[in-house]
Amino acid sequence: MLKFENVTKEFEGGFKAVDSVSFEIKKGELLVLIGPSGSGKSTTMKMINKVIPHSRGLISIDGKDINTYDVAELRRNIGYVIQQIGLFPHYTIQKNIAIVPQLKGWKANDISIRVNELLQMVGLDPEIYATRYPKELSGGQQQRVGIARALSANPDVILMDEPFSALDPITRDQLQGELISLHKKLKKTIVFVTHDMDEALKMGDRIAIMKDGKLLQIDTPEKLLREPAHGFVEEFIGKHR
Ligand code: ATP
Ligand code: MG
Repeated sequence: MLKFENVTKEFEGGFKAVDSVSFEIKKGELLVLIGPSGSGKSTTMKMINKVIPHSRGLISIDGKDINTYDVAELRRNIGYVIQQIGLFPHYTIQKNIAIVPQLKGWKANDISIRVNELLQMVGLDPEIYATRYPKELSGGQQQRVGIARALSANPDVILMDEPFSALDPITRDQLQGELISLHKKLKKTIVFVTHDMDEALKMGDRIAIMKDGKLLQIDTPEKLLREPAHGFVEEFIGKHR
């Protein structure tokens, strides 16, 4: 449903942050994008929701070139969760989650029901948290709100760029498990970026490994461990084999 064909991002000066990358994600799949710092993971994500325009190649969703989508429409259909959460500090949790449904023109009552449902879905009691402000929540709780917000308008695709990397190991492990169950339940197409191979192996239906803007291998965790297609991949997954 999400397809990259020879996609390149060249920044000023001719530096290729993403270099002729091709892959296809199936509907409902959770694809993990992993690679060292600077390998082009975030740039790849930002090209999907047109935060960064790609220089060459074709990106399509359900067979339609993303350049033919209206940007606002495209972004409403793609939830985006990043490491630095990005909740609005002066909005309550309820209001933070309601932003996109409001833009979509939902009725106040429907929004309120939806917000409660989403908070419950990410393990936060609406009675306690809906009227609080972001600074009154822990990092893990804020990240849960970030996930609820990304799901708020029922998008087809969710992009998650290192959503858990700032969390302590226990909270992180917990949220990984919760995201896996949520993914099983909702069957959303998810692209999940991480540096961490343990996280990638735990989360991914398939794992894509990037280095220097190139996609080196995309395979199931089992296949990746069994048959690394590249010396770097072998090295990267080293201790996990
Ligand atoms: P990290 O794991 O550190 O988040 P990443 O894999 O997400 O890294 P990107 O943010 O995609 O890496 O960056 C890929 C390369 O593109 C880097 O070398 C970076 O310096 C470069 N880059 C990113 N944004 C720009 C920009 N706006 N202008 C020029 N170069 C950029
Ligand atoms: Mg990044």
